[in-house]
Amino acid sequence: MGGEDHCGSGPRSGYPIRAPKPVSQYISQIYKSRVGQFYAKGQYAEQNLLSMMNDAVIYGEPHVKLWVWHAPEQSRPSFEHAVSHEFEKTKVGASFGPSWTTHWFKVQITVPDNVRDKELVEFHWDANNEGLIWSEDGKPLQGLTGGGERVEWVLPKSFLDGKEHTFYVEMACNGMFGIGQGDLIAAPDPNRYYTVERANIVAVNPDARGLHIDTWIIGDAAKEFPSDSPEQHQALEVYNRIIDTFEPGNKDSLKACRKIAQEYLGPNVDSHKVYESDKKPLVFGIGHCHIDSCWLWPFDETKRKVARSWSNQCNLMEKYPELNFACSQAQQYKWLKELYPYVFERVKQKVKDGQFHPIGGSWVEHDTNLPSGESLVRQFVYGQRFFEENFGKRCQTFWLPDTFGYSSQLPQLCRLAGMTRFLTQKLSWNNINKFPHTTFNWVALDGSQVICHMPPAETYTAEAHFGDVKRSMSQHKSLDQDPTSLLVFGKGDGGGGPTWQHLEKLRRARGISDTVGLLPRVHMGNSVDDFFDNLEAKGDKLVTWYGELYFELHRGTYTTQSNNKRNNRRAEDALRAVELLATIASIEGDLKYPKKDIDEMWEAVLLCQFHDCLPGSSIEMCYHDSDKIYKKVFETAEKILREASRLHEVAAKEATMETALAFNSLPWPRMEIVELADKELAVAGGSGPFIKLRPLCSTGEKPVAKLEQPSPGVFVLQNSQLKVKVEDGLITSLYDLQAHREVIPKGQKANQYVIFDDKPLYWQAWDVEVFHLDTRKELSSSETKVHEIKKHRVSVITRTKISDKSHIETVISLSASSPGEQSYVEVSSKVEWHETMKFLKVEFPVDVRNTEASYETQFGVVRRPTHYNTSWDMAKFEVCSHRFADLSEHDYGVSILNDCKYGFATTGNLMRLSLLRSSKAPDAHADMGTHDIRWAILPHQGGLGHVTVRKGLEFNNPLKIFAKVEEGEREVKNLWLQGRKVWLDETSSSALVLDTVKRGEDDDEKKEKNVILRIYDSLGGMARGKVRTVWKVKRVSKVNLLEDELEEVEVSEEKEEDGGLFWFELKPFEVATFKLTLA
Ligand SMILES: [Zn+2]
Repeated sequence: MGGEDHCGSGPRSGYPIRAPKPVSQYISQIYKSRVGQFYAKGQYAEQNLLSMMNDAVIYGEPHVKLWVWHAPEQSRPSFEHAVSHEFEKTKVGASFGPSWTTHWFKVQITVPDNVRDKELVEFHWDANNEGLIWSEDGKPLQGLTGGGERVEWVLPKSFLDGKEHTFYVEMACNGMFGIGQGDLIAAPDPNRYYTVERANIVAVNPDARGLHIDTWIIGDAAKEFPSDSPEQHQALEVYNRIIDTFEPGNKDSLKACRKIAQEYLGPNVDSHKVYESDKKPLVFGIGHCHIDSCWLWPFDETKRKVARSWSNQCNLMEKYPELNFACSQAQQYKWLKELYPYVFERVKQKVKDGQFHPIGGSWVEHDTNLPSGESLVRQFVYGQRFFEENFGKRCQTFWLPDTFGYSSQLPQLCRLAGMTRFLTQKLSWNNINKFPHTTFNWVALDGSQVICHMPPAETYTAEAHFGDVKRSMSQHKSLDQDPTSLLVFGKGDGGGGPTWQHLEKLRRARGISDTVGLLPRVHMGNSVDDFFDNLEAKGDKLVTWYGELYFELHRGTYTTQSNNKRNNRRAEDALRAVELLATIASIEGDLKYPKKDIDEMWEAVLLCQFHDCLPGSSIEMCYHDSDKIYKKVFETAEKILREASRLHEVAAKEATMETALAFNSLPWPRMEIVELADKELAVAGGSGPFIKLRPLCSTGEKPVAKLEQPSPGVFVLQNSQLKVKVEDGLITSLYDLQAHREVIPKGQKANQYVIFDDKPLYWQAWDVEVFHLDTRKELSSSETKVHEIKKHRVSVITRTKISDKSHIETVISLSASSPGEQSYVEVSSKVEWHETMKFLKVEFPVDVRNTEASYETQFGVVRRPTHYNTSWDMAKFEVCSHRFADLSEHDYGVSILNDCKYGFATTGNLMRLSLLRSSKAPDAHADMGTHDIRWAILPHQGGLGHVTVRKGLEFNNPLKIFAKVEEGEREVKNLWLQGRKVWLDETSSSALVLDTVKRGEDDDEKKEKNVILRIYDSLGGMARGKVRTVWKVKRVSKVNLLEDELEEVEVSEEKEEDGGLFWFELKPFEVATFKLTLA
């Protein structure tokens, strides 16, 4: 045994026997409240960290001299143009305006000797509006935001030589979010002036700046970590010790404070090395800058926003090598390329370096409810081609963080455009049901899938706060499948992108995860593609979501800015016609396919489909712009049609049988009766793009459209299929003579106008809220009168008063029915609309029962409930519909066709077409004025079928009359225009639609002669078809949307006079593209 311890067993303890002093517990709420005080403005500003942020601030002459030149009116001149003018002297405190004007400042600075050796010297400019700093020789260098945000530009070292240096500031008299009068979305204030508040040379204290971010993040940990975690208590303790250590004016104390901060943040937060630990990250930070191509500002301002925002990102990438920045919208890259080549070259270099990532694959971040299927295709064609041409690479991820709901066909179209991934987060705005997944496989109507990720921080403009990182885990709904997520950060909507503060905060967030834990580990340096690559590896485990991603908000966007929507529909139809005819004329005539004109038309239409333009949520200026854009599209269309056909469009009433042809842009035979000069009636019947006219009477057809008036004010319109009873503008009976069936339920009235109060919770132009349905009021009409009684058509007219300022004139017509053609009741309305926060709709109760109604969507049909069983059903109280909505039961149904509308609802047996809204923000005059709207009631035997699909297309593309251009010729000579050229033959499934005929995208460049056909199954069943053409075909291949070959198609051996033919088979709702290479 060893020595003995007489004081007992065990080692001797030095622990004091008596407590030296009382020690208290932290009173949590008091110590937490102290957290913000350390850098708050107000009574302690001169004693807290704020007092040490800068070592020196120099302003005024002789160190800072200012001159200004005012650009005239609302012009946005180039640098060269601006600096060629005489500048006049100005100073801080002067004001500039009004709204939307531009002012160029020449700034001359001399950095004084006492700050020349400082580590970080900046120029601070704040005029509460947007600006762009230009070098003396015309290079855009740095965007400015104003209002205390992004006011600094780091001075180049060459400026610290004691000599005078010159640069320019281009001031835009608008804020990041436009100029809303007292509210973000209020109509712009036309008379805002902006004061230059700061033009300073600032020597920054880097330790103070670093400590500010340290304490910001540690303070957030103290407030936001759960109070039952040791990590929260440690943050509070560290933070309070920092405050206690700080001594105003003592630079050494700043260093001591930062040392304490390292206990919580780790030692590496001042560089990107913080990300080099080998611990597994879960949250992947990706810089982003959402720039609405127009919204609370016009397109022209967006062009400058792009230059401002992306210059800044290139600057930041140099200082923060971990920054990976993703930006979408080919259109914005194109603007940059054309207007700011210097910045574009910088971007190109950063793309090459792997920090700047073009993403999305589309022309703009477009709406996906309203554009046609072909428009969705072209968004990808024009987007992907631009990205490939300029950056050598196509995009893999479709990127729509802010768009208002997602068409059920998008996964199919993405896959056909080379993309396997999709990102959005907008569904987190749903105000009825919470979307249940973060990461999932999204499945299209045809069964195609893409991996969809919705960042759990639920924003695409994260400020990279501690809370954003934390929510990336706490709000993640797919943890069973995969715990990783994207954190999309950076100022956005009005542009901007990540700031240096965001990057500094994220470094500290990572530091916390590696040092104390608990916070999900954020990582930088990966791209969005890297993130999805990892998900793809476990794709088969991800849950699935079939069909549309319906957005439970912004349902008013199917209707707002009606004229703009009408222009979209007409432009899409015009483009179909132009491409068809130009293709034919380039093959059979001597037309050079006008690819450049067609590209310009498409790019214009695609731009206007931007997710604040087409949906109607932009300011008035944007719609003046889009009116001009569409006008040019229609003029170009007219020009191409004229050049291709050597004919020009005329009003039917000016044409004669000999000189006119009817133009049919649809791929099946048509039959219509047209009224020519001298009230002569002619039949346009047959196939092909141009159809000859023949006299009605000579053909043996007996038009039977009759009008009777059985009692005063009551009219009966009848043809061989339908009998329509109209009283006071209302259809009280619609009898189907073939089916022996009444369509309108007894005692009910169709074509009933109804008006609703329309005051949503906040987003006026965007939303129609569920409670508007409770305010339904029927509009009553005056007496109906006879409008026309002709052999081929009868109609009645009714005037309906809406208010003292607004009214509707409605013509209800019935045309003579043609054998084999389903007849419908057509309604044309002219609405004089001057209301405030009212919603006009028209109702059709029908004697049909089904729990689901069908609506045309892009390349197919989407079915939605007609009841409110669950909150998910009820949320769809207003839905998007294209050319038709249909309610069918077994063997019978009713379709409502329209020529320019998108909003619809079917509740029980009541079908309701949305006509006009009258929101006052952000456009105070949205939809005011005259509107021509057409719709039709099409009863049909059988369920929803090809009759409705085709009538929907025909209703939107009535035959047009074209006459010869050259004077003195009696006959139309270009006979080559007549007859079928390429078509689906009669044995093909009637569900198939040959939607697009165009030339190959690369025909010009490769000197090839290809015809592209886009065909889809419109009704959702396996469909076989046979293509025939009069052209000599060398080879046929099935291609994707980008016209890459997928497989060669066997051309049938069967010899026929009129050329090559091939069979094909489409899966339900498949969109197929075939390339015919001509001999
Ligand atoms: Zn947006």
